[in-house]
Amino acid sequence: DTDAIVAAKAYSYLQNKLGADTEAVALGTPNEETKFVLDYFKEEYPRVITTAKNEVEAVMLVDHNEAQQSVDDIKELTVTHVVDHHRIANFETAAPLYYHAEPLGCSSTVIYKEFKSNNVEVPAKLAGLMLSAIISDTLLLKSPTTTELDRKAVMELSSIAEVNYEEYGLNLIKAGTSLDGMSHEDVLYNDFKLYTVDDKTLGIGQFFTTNFDEIKKDIDSYLDTLDREAEGNNYSLIALYITDIIKNGSYVLFNRKAKDIMDNAYDKEMSEGEYLQD
Ligand code: MN
Repeated sequence: DTDAIVAAKAYSYLQNKLGADTEAVALGTPNEETKFVLDYFKEEYPRVITTAKNEVEAVMLVDHNEAQQSVDDIKELTVTHVVDHHRIANFETAAPLYYHAEPLGCSSTVIYKEFKSNNVEVPAKLAGLMLSAIISDTLLLKSPTTTELDRKAVMELSSIAEVNYEEYGLNLIKAGTSLDGMSHEDVLYNDFKLYTVDDKTLGIGQFFTTNFDEIKKDIDSYLDTLDREAEGNNYSLIALYITDIIKNGSYVLFNRKAKDIMDNAYDKEMSEGEYLQD
């Protein structure tokens, strides 16, 4: 998502300023929202990789730590740095490392703190990108994960970037919630993460919308897509959370075979399109 791409660019910039030799790369092609952000600030799309051992010995991870969400050969690489704001799971290293995690709304806020503690200035374009990542991860500072530090970072970064964050932020959210030209696969994989629980692979997708009805009218076709993708990739569960950013809750769709897993997870009878208030 936007934070993952921007955090890679921001952390690579900071590390290179501090003497490292790094390249920001992505683990997937940018989604519509991220494309909007990169195009707005005339920033190049990062190179997409699936393995790294063929190029380097060591990597730094941003905005994730779980092996399932990283390059395929992560276990054969030395992880020297992690900067993140997620839970820590399925993560272990052979060697000591630098690990900076904080429960903030966005990895780019964690990285912004590192710019400050290292006395490195954030260039205007990068400030615009980091601002975008925070707006995206916190839904314009409205998500329950938003902290005072995210708020402060948005104020400071928007002044460096000379961007009116409220007006720009609404356009960013609009770009990220538009269903125009999106296939059902695009919606599912827009922001998709894999988790491993008890040897089962679970895929969780999230899409933000202001108009669930538009998705609801195609619900059977969406469920067919989830069934097909779960079957084809051997996932025990695919759940797609359609988050209504006005109501602040999510509708959840899941592959039909996974009803038992969902019933267990929520400890109740789950139905397709069930609404969960945050
Ligand atoms: Mn993030």
